[in-house]
Amino acid sequence: MKELLIVGGGPAGISAALYAVRGGAPVTVVAKGGGALAKAELIQNYYGFANGIAAKDLYAAGLKQAENLGAKILHTEIFGIEFAEEGFRAKTAAGTLNAGAVVLACGTARNVPPIRNIGTFEGAGVSYCAICDAFFYRGKKVAVVGGGAYARSEYAELKNVVDDVTVLTDGGAALDGLPCNTKKIASFEGGDRLEEVVFTDGTRENFDGVFIACGSAGAFELAKKIGLESANGKLVVDERRATNVPGIFAAGDCIPGLQQIAKAVCDGMIAGTEALKYLKAQK
Ligand SMILES: Cc1cc2nc3c(=O)[nH]c(=O)nc-3n(C[C@H](O)[C@H](O)[C@H](O)COP(=O)(O)OP(=O)(O)OC[C@H]3O[C@@H](n4cnc5c(N)ncnc54)[C@H](O)[C@@H]3O)c2cc1C
Repeated sequence: MKELLIVGGGPAGISAALYAVRGGAPVTVVAKGGGALAKAELIQNYYGFANGIAAKDLYAAGLKQAENLGAKILHTEIFGIEFAEEGFRAKTAAGTLNAGAVVLACGTARNVPPIRNIGTFEGAGVSYCAICDAFFYRGKKVAVVGGGAYARSEYAELKNVVDDVTVLTDGGAALDGLPCNTKKIASFEGGDRLEEVVFTDGTRENFDGVFIACGSAGAFELAKKIGLESANGKLVVDERRATNVPGIFAAGDCIPGLQQIAKAVCDGMIAGTEALKYLKAQK
């Protein structure tokens, strides 16, 4: 059977992994950290813990449980997913991974920095996906906003198509080897489209477009890269937790519904079971 790739090691991703691995699928879970549980403290409303459980302990126990049952756990970040001969290929900070099916369980984070007017220019100069939109900026001047590995990866995508690319780290440290401006950003300004970036020291610079790549790629960014439908910042799925792309399922906070552990675990169970069926049917 081909590999099931699960993006996310929180309740939804781990639940998907448990059902798929026990059903006989080779499973790789990729997680770059604790997700929502890293921000929570004591969990008192999840079944089975008489005195509650520390959120970070629940996260660690989930990873261990999946690993003990045979899932491979990779502590790294996924930058993008693309179609490939074997199904899908994911780009990670530690190389590429091939999979026959994917469960996106990467939580809710859409990394929108608090820059004035960012929402005003979304789709009019502010983009969240280099691979989707770089083409529109050939011969123009663009910036990547961000300061980590994801920003570096978006920079590389843009450089395939656009000559003039600068990284705006928004007050963060410069990225080695890349042209960077480390000033803190105050606002985006323009008319119908973004025209300039204004920094907190009062200086301004003209850009035709900016690509937001703060933190890491969340569900929304990964989804855009492969043409998944989303609405109101959530991935669109059917009752099988299947997205509009055959072989890609989604679960937990990245799809609509209550943002709670019990609901994420239920989504993960369904997505993991359906992904397993999908892989079995492909053999
Ligand atoms: C402060 C706070 C308190 C909460 N308290 C409660 C509570 O008391 N009870 C309750 O039921 N719920 C609570 N919640 C909500 C609960 O934590 C979430 O609903 C649940 O964790 C969602 O699970 P998930 O697996 O969908 O996403 P998450 O738990 O957010 O997991 C997402 C996973 O995806 C990974 N990931 C994301 N992007 C990438 C990428 N590009 N590459 C690799 N990995 C990636 C993350 O590292 C993480 O492992 C709380 C949330 C917060 C923020």
